[in-house]
Amino acid sequence: MAITTDSDSSSVCRQCGYTAASGSDAWNRISAPPFGRITQCPECGSTDVTNRQ
Ligand SMILES: [Zn+2]
Repeated sequence: MAITTDSDSSSVCRQCGYTAASGSDAWNRISAPPFGRITQCPECGSTDVTNRQ
């Protein structure tokens, strides 16, 4: 049985190329008051993370 999801999106760090599922615990989340919570790469600490589908 394969696991399939309709929202098969992942996020990619544009600095080091780290890739993990969007919104997964693999990503760090930091508080940035104007934006709320933003995603941070656990590998290089960059917040330049983009979604890829
Ligand atoms: Zn990174």
